[in-house]
Amino acid sequence: MTVVLDQNARSVSPEPGFAAKPSLAGLTRADLAAQLLALGVAQKNIRMRVNQLWRWIYVSGVTSFDAMSNVSKDLRTDLDQAHSLDRPEIVSEQVSEDGTRKWLLRLATTATDATAPEIETVYIPEADRGTLCISSQVGCTLNCTFCHTGTQRLVRNLTAQEIAAQILLARDRIGDWPDASPPSDGRLLPAGERKITNIVLMGMGEPLYNFDNVRDAMEIAADNEGLSVSKRRITLSTSGVVPEIARWGEEAATMLAISLHATHDDLRDELVPINKKYPLEQLLQACRDYPGVSNAKRITFEYVMLKGMNDSLAEAKALVRLLAGIPAKINLIPFNSWPHSPYECSDWEQIERFADVVNRAGYASPVRTPRGRDIFAACGQLKSESVRLKASERSAIATSTEH
Ligand code: SAH
Ligand code: SF4
Repeated sequence: MTVVLDQNARSVSPEPGFAAKPSLAGLTRADLAAQLLALGVAQKNIRMRVNQLWRWIYVSGVTSFDAMSNVSKDLRTDLDQAHSLDRPEIVSEQVSEDGTRKWLLRLATTATDATAPEIETVYIPEADRGTLCISSQVGCTLNCTFCHTGTQRLVRNLTAQEIAAQILLARDRIGDWPDASPPSDGRLLPAGERKITNIVLMGMGEPLYNFDNVRDAMEIAADNEGLSVSKRRITLSTSGVVPEIARWGEEAATMLAISLHATHDDLRDELVPINKKYPLEQLLQACRDYPGVSNAKRITFEYVMLKGMNDSLAEAKALVRLLAGIPAKINLIPFNSWPHSPYECSDWEQIERFADVVNRAGYASPVRTPRGRDIFAACGQLKSESVRLKASERSAIATSTEH
C-alpha cells in the first residue's frame, strides 16, 4: 500500500510579482563567503562568519536565521532581509510499505525557463544503513532503452545548491538533525531508522554530465565539519562517460558504480547507447585505471536483469570473464518495469541461476532487492511529471547538450 503523506506540504513560492529571497541552504563555503561580502561583512571576518553559518546550516540544520545564536543580531537581521534558508518545495512525499520515502521536489524557475522543473529524491532505510538516492539533472539526455528517466527531456543540470539541498530536505523530513523534535504531525521515523549514512548518485540524470556541480555538492556532503558523509559512503553511478571517470576519481574520490548491463558491445550499444561513443574496452580500461581502486575500494558493476535480453548463463560467465582482474562488486538489479516499457524482468529462477554463476566466481550477495516499487521509487523509475517533449524535440536537445 502506498501512503501519500503530503500534497503541497510546504510552499516556498513567492507571492506573484515578488522575487523569492535566495536561499543560503546548500551553498558552498565560497558561495557563502561571496554572499556575506555582498552584505558588507568585513573581509577579515568572512572566514569566521562562514564557519558559523556552515555549522548552523549543515550541523544543526536550522531553517531560520533567528536560531543562529552566536551570530550578531545586526547580521542576522541583514541575512534575513536578503536571504532565506528554504529548501526546494515539496510537491509530494510518499512512503512505501517497506519504509522507502520518495519526494517529488519543485525547483525554482530560471531566467531562461519559466516552468519550474521537478526532480525526485529517495530515502531507503535498511537495518545497517540509510541510503539517500539523489538526482543530478532534471531528466537525462542519454535514452538508455530500459530507463524511465531517459524518456524525459533534459530540462537542465541541477546547481550544486540544488543537489546539496536534497540532503538537507531529506534530513528535515526524516528528523535526522541532532535536535530534531518530532514534527507536530507526528511523522518522525523511529530513531534507528533516521540516519542518512550513505549517498548514491543514482537518481535522475547522468552525474558526469554535470561534473562540477555534482563535485561541489559532494564536497559539501563529505565536509567533516558539516554533513560528514564519508566519501567511502558516497557512490557515483555512471552510464560510462569514459573521459570524465579518471577526473572524477582525482577530484572527488568517491566510490564508483558503472551501469554495465551487457557483456558485449552489440547489446550494450542498444541498451546503453553511450556505448557507441565509449565502447566496453575503453570503459573497462577506465575502471582499471580509476584512482584509488583496490580490493578495499571496489568498483560496483550494475547489471539490470532483462528477460531474454542479457540474462543467459553464457552471459553470466561472460560477465565474470569481462571483470577478471578488476576489483569489482556486482549488483544484479531486477528490472523495474514502467508503463509501456519495452522489456520484462527476468524470471526469479533465472536471476538465481545467473547469481549462482556470479557467486561461484567469488562475488557475494549480488542481487539487489527492489525497494519502493509500490511508489515508483526504484532504480530507473524516477521520472517527474515535468514537461515532456515530442521525440524530435528531445533528440534535438540531446544533440545540443552532448559532450
Ligand atoms: N545515469 C546514471 C545514474 C542514474 S541511473 C547511470 O545510468 O548510471 C541508476 C541505476 O539505475 C543505473 O544503474 C541504471 O542503469 C539503473 N536503472 C535504470 N532504469 C532501470 C530500471 N527500469 N530497472 C532497474 N534499474 C534501472
Ligand atoms: Fe540516463 Fe542513467 Fe537512465 Fe541511462 S540509466 S537514461 S544514463 S539516468
